[in-house]
Amino acid sequence: MAEPTYHFDTLKIHAGYNPADHNYAVSVPIYQTAAYELGSVARSDDLFSFNSEDSVYTRLSNPTITILEKRIAELHGATGAIALASGMAAVSYALLNVVGGSGRILTTPRLYGGTIDSFGQVYKEFGIEVDLVEDSDSVDSFEKAIRADTKAIFVESITNPNATVTDLEPVADLAHKYNIPLLVDNTVATPYLLNPFDYGADIIVYSATKALTGHGNAIAGLVVENNQFNWANGKFPQFEEKLYSLRDIDDRQRSVLEVFSKIPFTGRIRALYLNYLGAALSPFNAYLVLIGLETLSERIEKQVSNSKKVIRFLENRREVLWIKHPEAKENPYRDLAKKYLPKGSGGIFSFGLSGTAEQRRNFIEGVKVFSYQANIGDARSLIINPSRTTHTELDEEQQRLADIVPETIRLSIGLENAEDLIADLDQAFELAFQK
Ligand SMILES: *Cc1c(COP(=O)(O)O)cnc(C)c1O
Repeated sequence: MAEPTYHFDTLKIHAGYNPADHNYAVSVPIYQTAAYELGSVARSDDLFSFNSEDSVYTRLSNPTITILEKRIAELHGATGAIALASGMAAVSYALLNVVGGSGRILTTPRLYGGTIDSFGQVYKEFGIEVDLVEDSDSVDSFEKAIRADTKAIFVESITNPNATVTDLEPVADLAHKYNIPLLVDNTVATPYLLNPFDYGADIIVYSATKALTGHGNAIAGLVVENNQFNWANGKFPQFEEKLYSLRDIDDRQRSVLEVFSKIPFTGRIRALYLNYLGAALSPFNAYLVLIGLETLSERIEKQVSNSKKVIRFLENRREVLWIKHPEAKENPYRDLAKKYLPKGSGGIFSFGLSGTAEQRRNFIEGVKVFSYQANIGDARSLIINPSRTTHTELDEEQQRLADIVPETIRLSIGLENAEDLIADLDQAFELAFQK
């Protein structure tokens, strides 16, 4: 039933799925199969020369996963999406794909801890150099750091844990001035709060583990593309070269741009990285993401409204040194949030907790409703101390650049009753700071 004229809340429940094509099942079926009957040699020839979108083997595609991909693409007004086994697979396959064997990525220190870590740990082996801008808030700073072999700019739209907001539009303009794409990790914002394609982004990546699934029960990742970027501009030969593996039915070699004309970016990820490196999502986890998506707007709305209440409470606590969220008083990202995030800036933010290391420990161990764990975007409210957990592999200088200090406490606000959340924090303050 999905048509482009439907609104977000309708698409999140219906897009990409027609029950009549699946025995009229109301809930998307889980296709728990590794391979698919090829049927006839003629059909097999079609499948193996990319003439059919039907599935051959679940590492490459699966009907349950295809529905998720179509739904995510429609939610962004995009041409295509690919689902992967994790957010890290989505980030790394997107970066490998844009670099294509040698080149640089320009990014900022304000990234998910695992992403920053991976730059030091694995990318060099794949011919990728990573440059960090000096001032993540300055477009000039991005421009100064662009080099001849820079292949992409990569940013997070709302960053974790400090909820800074990236000024996407001028950064996208800058990238395009240098004929390179802007890649945006939109995990914290979710497509409900922000569609980065509206502001010039070329590729969007998600950890669907977080708010898209929203119940802390699956690891999943997504890459989305809108086919606006010109991959044939000379900087990205990997999309133009003829490949033996992309032969047509008459054995003629073809390029990624020929075979996947509307989805060159995700098409190449599927044909190369998913095919050969193999971070395939399980159909069951795709199903969990689909179920989560059905309530995405409602969950985010509640998280936004709960967060406002928790922030007002924290602003009145003497133990709180600062709060980093556009909703907090005098936050420097208020105006950017107004522009990019009119529905709210999400439920993930940090605050500075005064006192000794022991008091901070007692505070974290004192909460009863908040759950102490390394996840975000859950139905549950979560708490963590990033400098000793999510960002612990960064050295002191990297933590300073990422603006993580020992006093940083990150909250991810869930769907509980806001008064109960506030009372929980209140009793933990009393417990930790009693004389
Ligand atoms: C969690 C996260 C990732 C990594 O995703 P996984 O699903 O844990 O592999 C990437 N980017 C951001 C912003 C995240 O929060």
